[in-house]
Amino acid sequence: PPAALVLLSISIATMDNESYDFIFKIVLLGDSGVGKSNLVFRFTKNDFNKDSKSTIGVEFATKTVQIDDNRLVKAQIWDTAGQERYRSIASSYYRGAVGALLVYDITDRDSFNHVPMWLKEVEENAEKDCLIMLVGNKMDLSEERAVFVRDGRSFARKNGLAFIETSALDATGVDTAFQRILQEIYKTQTKKQP
Ligand code: GDP
Repeated sequence: PPAALVLLSISIATMDNESYDFIFKIVLLGDSGVGKSNLVFRFTKNDFNKDSKSTIGVEFATKTVQIDDNRLVKAQIWDTAGQERYRSIASSYYRGAVGALLVYDITDRDSFNHVPMWLKEVEENAEKDCLIMLVGNKMDLSEERAVFVRDGRSFARKNGLAFIETSALDATGVDTAFQRILQEIYKTQTKKQP
């Protein structure tokens, strides 16, 4: 192989000496303020950041989990980090993504109304077999609920998406959401291999 490629693979190996069997890219999308950064924070660090401020750019986080038959699957999670303000995220954000969490805020009807727009964008830009999970976040704020569970569920069913409600604040459903999508990605991706 060309020297540049060898060098590149060496630097990747030294940066990342943790072992895993598969690495899957997962992207988060949805309106600004729905809780995307905090979902990632909760899953990867088991913590919550009340005053999280978006930086401009893309943020990454990783976490390795075990999938049924002792396989180690590393999730490489991409968070928009404020780019969603420009409405349409660059296609490089979606490139190679095999999973997407499309997040809305159950207390913010607009964020749910924008779900079809986000869905269209991910379908146009991510891998053809990208698995998409619709996530209704902030379920701890039930007294301010503006989107019924059945609205989320029925949209998901009509569009062939998985569906879950979560709270990044109290951790409800967060591990389940990531674990479930990773499991499905694992099934889809390993089926493709001979
Ligand atoms: P992002 O812009 O989609 O990345 O959203 P952030 O993660 O930055 O969260 C936006 C705001 O919503 C912050 O003030 C968070 O503290 C708050 N937030 C995020 N998730 C939850 C949640 O599950 N419950 C509640 N009550 N607040 C949340």
